[in-house]
Order: sequence, then structure tokens, then C-alpha cells
Amino acid sequence: MIEKSIYEDYQIDFDDAYNSNDAYYFIFNHNRDLYLVNNNLPESFDDFNIEFKLYIGKFKTKDVFVINCSEENSFFSLEDVYDIDKDIYLMATRAVLIRDWYISHQFCGRCGTMTQIDEKDMMLKCPECGQVHYPRIAPAIIVAIRKGDKLLMAKHSYHKTHKYALVAGFVEAGESIEEAVHREVSEEIGIKIKNLKYKRSQSWPFPNSLMLAFTAEYESGEIKVDGDEIVKAKWFSKNEIERYDSDISISDWLINDFIQNNP
Ligand SMILES: [Zn+2]
Repeated sequence: MIEKSIYEDYQIDFDDAYNSNDAYYFIFNHNRDLYLVNNNLPESFDDFNIEFKLYIGKFKTKDVFVINCSEENSFFSLEDVYDIDKDIYLMATRAVLIRDWYISHQFCGRCGTMTQIDEKDMMLKCPECGQVHYPRIAPAIIVAIRKGDKLLMAKHSYHKTHKYALVAGFVEAGESIEEAVHREVSEEIGIKIKNLKYKRSQSWPFPNSLMLAFTAEYESGEIKVDGDEIVKAKWFSKNEIERYDSDISISDWLINDFIQNNP
């Protein structure tokens, strides 16, 4: 994962009193793919029939806009953008969530009236019932559980690659993130853990998660998987771990952290 802060290159702003002669454009299509020209961001959108354009602040000293259109050519998946340019990817993780928010809240979810964009805040409000609609982020936990010099990994039925992965899951309404970790581990693997430690987080726009990464130690119980969501789970020594193809995710960072701290 990228360890630098998005704010090293980005100044958040949503006031439309911008001066946009010098700008970068994050142009997405209907598949959430990003347009790049010569592996860089375009500085014009003249070639596109655009559906909307939103000012979101300054990126590397230029005004930065999110745009949506329906074209397909020269667009790259977010994973491909990560391989092409890490700085653009990091900014795109925010830009794509702003795009999704704007598209998804054109009408009020409570009463169906067409919403209006706020002048100062990144907010769509309903002129009829007053409901406000902000970009939606879904917090999720991921945990590296250690038992001696081994790491717990599980095979999820929904993973396309069928590789072993760390235990992860969404935070449920009403629970703390720590409670979410204990519940997910108990539900998916059937064991108890101790010494839960928060490590770091990552915005994960697939589609809209905030990943909160933890480490923990095995406490008690036998591995027992449900056979439905989790097919198998077992303890891996560092040499047995099958690494991912990409280091894009915080999951890879946690596995690397385990290996580095297991000399
Ligand atoms: Zn409403």
C-alpha cells in the first residue's frame, strides 16, 4: 500500500470560487475507470461529452476536478492506475468516491425529491425534507492473527483467485471496531484472540471501504469454519505464505509486517 498521506499532494476544498485555467481532471467513465493521457492526468476535458464536473480542491498546486462521462477508450482500472502512477492512484481513491456519491444521491433516499448541491460543503441536500447526503464510507476490519511464529489465513469462497487471505469483514451498525474484529474472527474461524492492536488504515475504494488493520494473538479454541463464506483456514509459517500479485492493499502490508517481524 502507499504509505504517504494523500494530503502531501492535495489540499481539500469544495468552494466553487476557483480559478480553473490551470487544472487536472479526474475523468471517470461508467465503469469507474480513469482516463489517462501518456500515463498522466489530462489538463483539458475538451474531447469529452461530460455529465458533470465537480471541483474538489488542489492537486500538486493545480485545481482538481472530478468529471464523469460515458466514453471507454484510454480508460484504466484503478488497479492499473496504481501500477502506472502511485500519486495519481492515491488521489483517484478520493476522486472516485466523490464521483460515486454525486451519482448515487441525485434524488433524496428518504422522499425522492431531486437533491441540490451545497455551496460550501461536499453535501447534497433535499429541498423538500431537509435530508442531507454525504459521501458514504463503509468501515471494515482486517486482522493478522499470530500463533507463535505462524499466521492465520483463510480461503474465502467469494475470492476469485481462491488464495488464502487474512480475516476481514465489515463493521456492523452499533458495534465498535474492536468488537467487529472479535466477532468476525469468532464467526469465521471459531477461535478467540487477545492483544488486539490497531496498526493503520487505508481508503479502499472497491467500492467504498475504509480498511482498519489490526494485529492480534491466538488465545483459545480450535479452527472451525462455516464452509460457506470461509472454505478453509490454517496457520502458515512465513515461508508457506502465498503472497498477492500486487502490494496495493493494506492486507499485503499486514502480511509483510508479519514476515518482517518474524526473522
Ligand atoms: Zn427528501
